[in-house]
Amino acid sequence: MLEKLPDNYVPLLPEVEAFLAQPVMPYIGGAYVAPYSEQTFGTYDPSSGRQLAQVGRAQKEDVNIAVKTAREAFDAGDWWLRMSPADRSKCIWRLAELIEQHAEVLAQLDSLDNGKPLKTTQTDDIPLSAKHLYYYAGWPTKIEGSTIPVSQHTMFNYTLREPVGVVGLIAPWNYPLLMATWKFAPALAAGNCIILKPAEQTPLSALYVAKLTEEAGFPPGVFNVLPGYGEEAGAALVEHRGVDKIGFTGSVEVARKIVQGSVGNLKRVSLELGGKSPNIVFADADLEQAIVGSTWAIFGNNGQSCTAGSRLYIERKVFDQVIAGMQEEVSRIKVGPGMARQQPDLGPVVSDEQLDRVMGYVHEALDQGAQAVTGGSRLFGELQDGYFLEPTLFTGVTDDLRVSREEIFGPVVCAMPFDDVNEIIDRANDTDFGLAAGLWTTDVRKAHNLARALKAGTIWINTWGNTEAASPFGGYKQSGYGREMGKEALDLYTDVKSVWIKTD
Ligand code: ADP
Repeated sequence: MLEKLPDNYVPLLPEVEAFLAQPVMPYIGGAYVAPYSEQTFGTYDPSSGRQLAQVGRAQKEDVNIAVKTAREAFDAGDWWLRMSPADRSKCIWRLAELIEQHAEVLAQLDSLDNGKPLKTTQTDDIPLSAKHLYYYAGWPTKIEGSTIPVSQHTMFNYTLREPVGVVGLIAPWNYPLLMATWKFAPALAAGNCIILKPAEQTPLSALYVAKLTEEAGFPPGVFNVLPGYGEEAGAALVEHRGVDKIGFTGSVEVARKIVQGSVGNLKRVSLELGGKSPNIVFADADLEQAIVGSTWAIFGNNGQSCTAGSRLYIERKVFDQVIAGMQEEVSRIKVGPGMARQQPDLGPVVSDEQLDRVMGYVHEALDQGAQAVTGGSRLFGELQDGYFLEPTLFTGVTDDLRVSREEIFGPVVCAMPFDDVNEIIDRANDTDFGLAAGLWTTDVRKAHNLARALKAGTIWINTWGNTEAASPFGGYKQSGYGREMGKEALDLYTDVKSVWIKTD
């Protein structure tokens, strides 16, 4: 159950306390139900290491039940056949409104579970989740086929776009509710029934939202949530032959397992994976803007973003100036518990496992001669119970080190100088990833040329990290396949049927 939290925390809302007071169960067929095994697992506050709640541990049997329930809801037509697209829109819109009404509760749940500052979940994670749903609420009435001018003149041919069916959505822990919403909003707009598996580190907000779907008018069985471990609930969902599609956000290693696990029924798979995004600062940039932007490009969300600008390339003649500016900017960053009354800018990393992983990279880089211009250590003292790290800026590193090539998913950036545009294009693209890339320049020609030359799904110019429901997002190369957001996401959750009618 909920352990006593530190005294310097914002008081918990009564709704949050009530939600965490007893084990939070999987949500299947419109109700919270105990898992078949009756087992639970703990979810913890990474700022203090204290237990927040016990959560039902869904496993294979629960996946079987959820798939059967979702399939019945889909096939019986409760959802798809009976409900008009306009009514589906209304449900999604109402869910967005309910998320806004419960925003404070959801912000506390995500801050507790993930550790990120409450001010961040209040201004970003939760409002953006609602906005995402508002955007997709507009789509059900606009998903349309086309009439095709076939050359066989006695034939009439048109297409229908239909939902894929039962879709499994596997979400990560870095933006718990927002990343889940990126998946379930378009999936529901397209008319699918969903089974969401939140990350085991952060299952609370998705489970809370599950209950809101009932009030929003979703028929039972349309929206199911299975909390549990990746290798158990996640793998069982991926392997289940009754699941028609998996939408996944997470690491490349797990993505490989998902592709392998999905071969049984050749289900559709879309993958939004990691990155090692190059962030390029040209000497002709507005350096003040570039310094602040590059600092937050990596340290925003503690580097726990798939788009983190973790390879920082700075034109040699302004290298020292940019590094000094970033050093100053980092010195102003306050790190502390996400729920602290005195709000920090950054919280802890999500778990002790993640802390060890990140520190492993930091120690290796230091052993190889990297210089930590800022950071390089875990934070102790009054932060010793949580998983707190100093934002770490390395110089004296080269492109070939593990720290400059692998995704760390923590507050660690490698800064390296460059001399010439062609050189930097090659170096920026010399990676297995291709999620995002960015550059800072006032030269419009350079901006457009690099936008084309950089191999990544998103390019940011004189900015970093912008995403919006209306604009497609996804990876080149091993950063994944399929595009979330925008109208492109609807392609992930629909199939196209071609209909031929002989007219003579
Ligand atoms: P991270 O490394 O950032 O924790 P992961 O890729 O491990 O990210 O996890 C992202 C999501 O994938 C989580 O919901 C996790 O439970 C799930 N997951 C992990 N392993 C598997 C697996 N073998 N099959 C299916 N899902 C998994």
